[in-house]
Amino acid sequence: MCWFSARPFRTGPGRGKALKVEANGEVCAAAGQCLLAAPNVFDQSVKDGTVVVISTDPPESERSAVLDAVSRCPTSAIRIIED
Ligand code: SF4
Repeated sequence: MCWFSARPFRTGPGRGKALKVEANGEVCAAAGQCLLAAPNVFDQSVKDGTVVVISTDPPESERSAVLDAVSRCPTSAIRIIED
């Protein structure tokens, strides 16, 4: 077996690590940018419009959308944790 084939495939920061998402409703401004960027991961509360994380451990296919949501959030209410 080729030595390189046993190494994890990486094409960018964080690739190969499990993605976990947290949001702080205390600082959320209910702007809805996260929902626009990653609708499979974020929603808004019908009560006050604050963020609701509907997928705390989204699949790798959602990574770029989650990163986009983080960059769009005006209050830095979203946090990514990588195991
Ligand atoms: S983008 Fe940020 S401030 Fe806006 S709803 Fe999402 S978490 Fe809240």
